[in-house]
Amino acid sequence: MDTLPPPAPAHAEPTPLAQLFSRISATGDRPRPLRKEKALLTDPLLNKGTAFTEAERDAMGLRGLLPPRVFTLEEQLQRTLAALRRKADPIEKYIYLVNLQNRNEVLFYRLVMEHLEEIIPLIYTPTVGEACIHYGEIFRRARGLFISRRDRGRIAEVMRNWPRPGARLIVVTDGERILGLGDLGALGMGIPIGKLSLYSSCAGVHPCYTLPITLDVGTDTQALHSDPSYIGVQEPRLRGPEYDAFVEEFVCAVKEVFPKALLQWEDFGNTTAFGLLERYRTRLPSFNDDIQGTASVALAGLIAALRITGGSLGDQRLLFLGAGEAGTGIAGLFVAAAKAQGLSEADARKKCWFVDSKGLVTRGRGGALAAHKLPYAHEHEPVASLADAVRQLKPTALIGVSAVASAFTREVVEAMSAQNERPVIFALSNPTSKSECTAEQAYAWSGGRAIFASGSAFPPVDLGGRRLVPGQGNNVYIFPGVGLGALVTEASEVTDAMFLAAATTLASLVRPEDLAEGRVYPPLGTIREVSLEVATAVARVAHDSKVARVRRPRNIRADIRKRMFQPTYRQYV
Ligand code: NAD
Repeated sequence: MDTLPPPAPAHAEPTPLAQLFSRISATGDRPRPLRKEKALLTDPLLNKGTAFTEAERDAMGLRGLLPPRVFTLEEQLQRTLAALRRKADPIEKYIYLVNLQNRNEVLFYRLVMEHLEEIIPLIYTPTVGEACIHYGEIFRRARGLFISRRDRGRIAEVMRNWPRPGARLIVVTDGERILGLGDLGALGMGIPIGKLSLYSSCAGVHPCYTLPITLDVGTDTQALHSDPSYIGVQEPRLRGPEYDAFVEEFVCAVKEVFPKALLQWEDFGNTTAFGLLERYRTRLPSFNDDIQGTASVALAGLIAALRITGGSLGDQRLLFLGAGEAGTGIAGLFVAAAKAQGLSEADARKKCWFVDSKGLVTRGRGGALAAHKLPYAHEHEPVASLADAVRQLKPTALIGVSAVASAFTREVVEAMSAQNERPVIFALSNPTSKSECTAEQAYAWSGGRAIFASGSAFPPVDLGGRRLVPGQGNNVYIFPGVGLGALVTEASEVTDAMFLAAATTLASLVRPEDLAEGRVYPPLGTIREVSLEVATAVARVAHDSKVARVRRPRNIRADIRKRMFQPTYRQYV
């Protein structure tokens, strides 16, 4: 990534729309275009709102367009925080924050960064799930690109409509598996927008480089076909060769229009996600956060848990509930990590067991197994229930990635606790309503011995006079840092070794005081430092493995720190 330039104003070059406007105004018709300097008030990367100084208001022709009192950024922050806190429920707060982001990004990011623990759950999970469900109703102002099946044959042209040149970081979804909520089609746009906000707030990727995209290939959620507020194409999803050709055209367009862009696949269904990742990961720098980011954050939690339980990765036996992108992604990275510690691939795979919607994943199970499950299909008799699987397989860690709420019953947690002094129980399904158990249940049913982490945050639990703090296995610890590391090195590929380095780095940042409270992740409030360390580790891998396309700086960490976006106002005069 270049030294960060000041963001170019939107429409730096005359767009077809600007040309149209100038033709219209030449004929004296209405509407006339806004004068150019008014972009200062309408471009969220340039707008300072009430913080434009007296001198700026005079010099830029803004006098009278703003209320007379000039506020400092700090005063604006206090005002916005108070207004945010006055909103009654999370979805109202989400709407308020989205509007702020669309108006004034410096103020938005300062607010997020200064109140990370309060605001991340509002702009991402769990609130973003509800926001997506209601996206059609709360849609106010377009953000990001919608590329629909009707744009086939002209996707590059559509992409050129993006008003800010030089996108470097694209998060794209086709809306098929939004969190644990299923196929939301075009409503899934909240996810790439939210993820990119996290890149900027948690890792300092300048918002001017970010581009959220939704590929609207249709939806198989019947209710949306007749929903009058649905904003997408009301047809069934493209599938098979038609879908593949659509995505192929999209990827070619990305390479043509934004040749330096890093692409993150987000919330694709598991019948497409694995194939897309493999097909494109060497054709352009790209990764799938649901598979690789999740794997890295979960592995970090497992490594950190070893600092409580003792032992090595090779001693572990993992039982997953859910054999989709998250579960098999975690297992894949666990295998890579165990191999790095000397285990053979076959032995490492035997440490990973899966229960999916049809029961224990085994060799002899009837019906064809999906390719991503095959490496973990071992010889075993069928089991009657998850609790039986726990009793028979004796896992050291139980990992929930099934989106099945309450699947970790009291019986399951008690079985884990009967076999392990400190059972590792990760209920990673999002949003909170899909979590396999709550923190309170895991602690209560294990007599306070569970090492618990979840996908969405749970509050601390007081148990028998002890305060237990559940860790949040949030991908936000990983993907912003990985993305930043890949961007600054202009990596030609995002490799598994980068995710492994990210996991070990994250685990090393868990402090003894975190572990003492049972927390296997650092506090969210330290995320900028975490992302810097993860990005540094990733950049080192990129340079060492020769996928970096820039010269290695003498001090990688200092170089990255210098490039991180700091939301402060520019002085225009
Ligand atoms: P997926 O659709 O790829 O996989 C879901 C899996 O769950 C499938 O194998 C399915 O067979 C299985 N399943 C469904 N019903 C089941 C049942 N009744 N019993 C057992 N298994 C069942 O989805 P995914 O991407 O793997 O995500 C799964 C969940 O993990 C989601 O809720 C997602 O939000 C969550 N997730 C959390 C994190 C995190 O916390 N960091 C990251 C990624 C995904």
